[in-house]
Amino acid sequence: MKARRKSKASIKTTFDRKEARARADRVKPDIPLPADWPQYTTHEYYTWMMRGMPQDAIVANWSQHSPHNSHSPIFWYQDKLLSCRDCGAEFVFTKNEQRVWYEEYKLPIQVKAVCCTICRRRQRKEKEAAKG
Ligand SMILES: [Zn+2]
Repeated sequence: MKARRKSKASIKTTFDRKEARARADRVKPDIPLPADWPQYTTHEYYTWMMRGMPQDAIVANWSQHSPHNSHSPIFWYQDKLLSCRDCGAEFVFTKNEQRVWYEEYKLPIQVKAVCCTICRRRQRKEKEAAKG
């Protein structure tokens, strides 16, 4: 029962992606491309994606991302609800944290926070204690 539901869901995902591409191809490309727009996809696609950006999101500055070959760049940052690997608590990986991680610390865009702030702080302290 569960497996069947899962496969239905994956079919839906595939369909949505195709539909999205088709819709993207019909969009008039009127949002200016950033200078460092990677050449692997179209201006239409960029315009279509940016139209879908949530109002509270922060636009990603690609010129500040560390180089990557990902075909799905981060278009914008939005608060993400994740659960901590260590304590299991849910925590928010905020849009500002994401911007700092990817644009200032130059972390690879595939990287995500795995631990909550409290656990991260504790780990940092433990590391420092181990060093000293
Ligand atoms: Zn935690």
